[in-house]
Amino acid sequence: MIYCEGLVKIYKTDDLEVVALQGLNLTVEKGELMAIIGNSGSGKSTLLNTLGGLDRPSAGQVKVGPWDLLKMTEEERVSYKRDTVGFIWQNNARNLLPYLTALENVEMPMMLSGKLDRAYAMQLLEWVGLKHRIHNKLHQLSGGEQQRVAIAISLSNRPELLLADEPTGSVDTATSDMIMNIFRKLNKEIGVTIVIVTHDMTLASQVDRVVAIRDGLTSTEFVKHNPEIGSHGEGFVSLSAHTSQNEHVAYVVVDKVGRLQVPREYLKSMDIKDKVLMEFDGEKITIRAPHKVQTEE
Ligand code: ADP
Ligand code: MG
Repeated sequence: MIYCEGLVKIYKTDDLEVVALQGLNLTVEKGELMAIIGNSGSGKSTLLNTLGGLDRPSAGQVKVGPWDLLKMTEEERVSYKRDTVGFIWQNNARNLLPYLTALENVEMPMMLSGKLDRAYAMQLLEWVGLKHRIHNKLHQLSGGEQQRVAIAISLSNRPELLLADEPTGSVDTATSDMIMNIFRKLNKEIGVTIVIVTHDMTLASQVDRVVAIRDGLTSTEFVKHNPEIGSHGEGFVSLSAHTSQNEHVAYVVVDKVGRLQVPREYLKSMDIKDKVLMEFDGEKITIRAPHKVQTEE
């Protein structure tokens, strides 16, 4: 469903260039429910906005289904946004209309694209648990209920890919659990591929796979532990320090040319700055801090 390789996004302001994505790699299979985790400023929203066709990538490869996001024309971008992706934000003020009912809000994008389907709009509201609220105006609903209307709206164009940027960022834990349950149900029942961006590590246990991004690069990957497959997938290195956190196994991502990112804490505690000694004994690779400079005798 998604293929990014060496994805670069540079924001240019008057006298400044911010490299928000520095050559990011990411593959998401059709039908996956996965999360992207990272600290504030790590490039999560940039990645999602790029995947959603809201931001233009600067370089590298980004493909979503048959679409090449770097090469698409403006016209193609408009129909891509309308037909292929659904978007959910932390703050949904930007796509909810407070004086319309929940049902009217879900029907609005359908009307705009000339495909009004009331039965489907009602079905969507039922899926998000708001069957009894369809005729309430948006401003009469709680924040969590409004977020569920936003999920229904995001699906109104029957997208193949749902992108959610911090969807549980401003709701309490109970509502957050409910929203995650809705995502799981939608993923299972209509097969929509879902990518959730969050800085909340506790959401990790509720999805199949988590990819961590750091400084605009994918760094670590957590995969639900499956004893039958074993813990060593192709292209990954287990990061054992994290394995006991939950039922996920953590891997350091190795890119196509063999680069991997060593966690900053490790480098710091080893006092490693710009180079290391690497040894391979036929079984394992050891990374050590360089020897102190030796003076010639
Ligand atoms: P996150 O969502 O993980 O918090 P963002 O993707 O929003 O991170 O931001 C990544 C980096 O890009 C940050 O340094 C941010 O300041 C910068 N950035 C994001 N959007 C813009 C923009 N429109 N113009 C300039 N810089 C931006
Ligand atoms: Mg963000």
